[in-house]
Amino acid sequence: MIVVVEKRCRVYDVVIVGGGSAGIAAAVGAAALGAKTLLIERSSFLGGQATNCSIPTYDGFFTRAEPSEQVVGGVGRQIIDKLSMMNACQKPLRSPWGNVMLPVNNEAVKVALDACIEESGADFLLHTRVIGAEVSDGGITAVECVDDGGVFSIKAAAFVDASGECNLTAMARGGFFTPDPADMQVGTLLIRFGGVSQGADLRPQCFKTAIASAKASGIGPLSKDSGFVMRVSGSNDVIATLANERVNALDSASLTAAEIAARKQARAYLQALRQFLPGFEDAYINQTGPQLGIRETRHAIGEYVITGEDVVQARRHEDAVARGCWPVERHSNAGALAAYEWILNDSYYDIPLRSLKNKGLSNLWGAGRTVSCDLIAFASVRVMGTAFATGHAAGVAAALFAQKGYAEIAQVQAELVRQKAII
Ligand SMILES: Cc1cc2nc3c(=O)[nH]c(=O)nc-3n(C[C@H](O)[C@H](O)[C@H](O)COP(=O)(O)OP(=O)(O)OC[C@H]3O[C@@H](n4cnc5c(N)ncnc54)[C@H](O)[C@@H]3O)c2cc1C
Repeated sequence: MIVVVEKRCRVYDVVIVGGGSAGIAAAVGAAALGAKTLLIERSSFLGGQATNCSIPTYDGFFTRAEPSEQVVGGVGRQIIDKLSMMNACQKPLRSPWGNVMLPVNNEAVKVALDACIEESGADFLLHTRVIGAEVSDGGITAVECVDDGGVFSIKAAAFVDASGECNLTAMARGGFFTPDPADMQVGTLLIRFGGVSQGADLRPQCFKTAIASAKASGIGPLSKDSGFVMRVSGSNDVIATLANERVNALDSASLTAAEIAARKQARAYLQALRQFLPGFEDAYINQTGPQLGIRETRHAIGEYVITGEDVVQARRHEDAVARGCWPVERHSNAGALAAYEWILNDSYYDIPLRSLKNKGLSNLWGAGRTVSCDLIAFASVRVMGTAFATGHAAGVAAALFAQKGYAEIAQVQAELVRQKAII
């Protein structure tokens, strides 16, 4: 149900900050337990980077093995089913690097997610930014929010930080750390080109040759020589992940400079591809962004920190509440393709409940990009299929905590299985 009036000073069982993949799954999972749940999102739509940045594929639902195994069910599966019913989700496809992705229509994602939250019984507020947290006796008691009408406060018994940047965790002074900006993965502006002929060869090597020629002829600024490029099904549009920028997304001055520089790159890529890549002669820019895609900023510190070794060794845990299967994909260098490390046997690793539970605060769980990881593990955990799975688990744990005063692992696991999660 959408909250239209009377939102000032409301009381909930569970409040979730951030309406991306993780936050949506948390809200649906918590509401399915009967918890009075509120999802808060600062944008005008749900979806997080799938809609803020037009990211066209959900990764992390299927392992890279042959045949591939599905490792995310529950709320993530519900959303895929809804998108499929809208004819807005294609069959899984393999990237040039062998990873299995689910292409989705970003506009349909907005509508499907509205419907999922409305059907779940959770309330949600768009255009609402969380700007502060009240803490008492080692737990969060309320969040302070702002809309154009002013500042208001919402109380709850349990909270999920699904903000991607650990914004709630930082405001409440929970466990988190901020890597040196030089160690954060780079951001990327997605560019949607229209007017690309059906015959255009979109393989990375074709881009490499074309962009090398463009650079040699003085066209710029251009960061990467190639990247993931996907045709939008049934159209002359392609979506390209080419324009990288090094950015500290916690700093609006850095973000402003990066957004401007990336838009300059988009124009230069258009010029380069029109001139040097057959099939792009009549191309034009249909859309950028809307926002620069941000991969990494702060990291939560949970009761367990997932390590890169846990990921590549496909480690299992007794308190597993989700599975991750995307390889480690690090975008460390603005001028280069991502570096991959593969998971043992192209299998999956477990995500333990302890890595969601914040170390510093008794009633705070992380989900999606705010799961507690080292920088290597993060490069796998961050994808959206996995974010649905960790969000679902965080929502269930937070709801149980709100109802009982504790979230015992056996109960969290049993409830996730009841809600058809794969754990
Ligand atoms: C360029 C790029 C390409 C990528 N490609 C893929 C891909 O192909 N497939 C894939 O699965 N993943 C991809 N990823 C990774 C993926 O998009 C993210 O890691 C994923 O979106 C994480 O989900 P999340 O819900 O944790 O966070 P997000 O999607 O970032 O959502 C967080 C939400 O919280 C909101 N928020 C933050 N602070 C506040 C606040 N104070 N108050 C209210 N709301 C707040 C934000 O507006 C946002 O909507 C890519 C990432 C980038 C940057």
